[in-house]
Amino acid sequence: MNLKINFNGAIQDYAEISVLDHGFLFGDSVYEVVATHGNKPCFLEQHLERLRNSAVGISLEIPYDDEWFVEQIDRTVQLANFDESYIRIIVTRGVGEIDIDPSSCDRPNIIIITAPAKVYSGQYYENGIDLALVSVKRNAREALNPGIKTGNYLNNILAKMEATRQGAQDALMLNAQGNLTEGTTSNFFFVNGGKLFTPSLDCGILSGITREMAIQLALENGVPLEEGHWPPEELSQAEEAFVTGTVKKIMPATRLDGKPIGNGKPGPITLRFMRLYDRLLDEKYGVPAAPGQSQ
Ligand code: PMP
Repeated sequence: MNLKINFNGAIQDYAEISVLDHGFLFGDSVYEVVATHGNKPCFLEQHLERLRNSAVGISLEIPYDDEWFVEQIDRTVQLANFDESYIRIIVTRGVGEIDIDPSSCDRPNIIIITAPAKVYSGQYYENGIDLALVSVKRNAREALNPGIKTGNYLNNILAKMEATRQGAQDALMLNAQGNLTEGTTSNFFFVNGGKLFTPSLDCGILSGITREMAIQLALENGVPLEEGHWPPEELSQAEEAFVTGTVKKIMPATRLDGKPIGNGKPGPITLRFMRLYDRLLDEKYGVPAAPGQSQ
C-alpha cells in the first residue's frame, strides 16, 4: 500500500508496533482522521482539540504540543505528496505489561498515517446510501462515552457488520433509551417539514466536526435546526436524511431498512448542504487542482 507513516517523529513507508502496546492489546488509544482539501489538512485545529479531549477522557497524557503535531503532519503529508491525503493520527497508551492496568506503560506511541484520500463512489452522492436500523445499541455514555474517540471501535464494527448483512452501506444505531444516535463513522441528520433535526450530544454520539460545520451552515443560512432525542418512528415522516463525516463529508441517505426516505432521492436541503459544505472547503482551503495536476 502507498503510505507514509510517521512513528514518533520518524517517517517511513512501513512501521511495526509492539504487540505489547496497550493500543494493540486492549484498544487503549485515541485517534483522529483528518481529510485534506487541496492537500491541506481540514479543520486541523478542531481535530487536535478533540484528540486532546479524547486523551483527557481516558486519562492519557500526550507528550507533545499541538505545534509538534502540526509540524509532523505537515512533514508527512509533504513527503507523501498525494493529490489528496487521508491522515490518521493515533496516540496509544504505549508498551506495558500484559495487564489492563495502564500504569506499566512507559510512554504513548504517536503514529501519523498518510494514505491517498479515500474516494467514495459518486453513486453514493447521486443516489444516496441505504441505512439499516441495527439491533446493536450505541455504547452508553456512562459505559464508554461515544464522545471520546478511542481506538476501541468494536461497538461500531458489530453494527457495521449487521448493516452489511442487511445489504445497507451503513448502520444507524439507537441508544439504550431507543433514540437515534449516529452511524458507525458518521453523524445523522433528517429533514421534516423543511426543518433539520439531529440527535443531540447527550444521546451518546461523537461530536463530529462535520456535524458542527453543518450546524453552523444551518445557522448562517437560516435553515431551522433542532438538536434533540428522537425515536426512529420519527423517520417514517422524514422527507430527507443525510450523514456527515470527515471523509464522507455530507452524503445523502435515501433508504432505511430498504424503504425509501421521503421520495428515495437526495432532497433539496441535502443537496444544498452538500454544496454549502464544498463551498466552505473551497473558501477556506482554496479550490483544489484536478487529480494528477497538483505539484
Ligand atoms: N461518529 C462516529 C462514531 C465517527 O467515527 C465519526 C468519524 N470520525 C463521526 C461520527 C463523524 O465525525 P467527523 O465529522 O468529525 O469525522
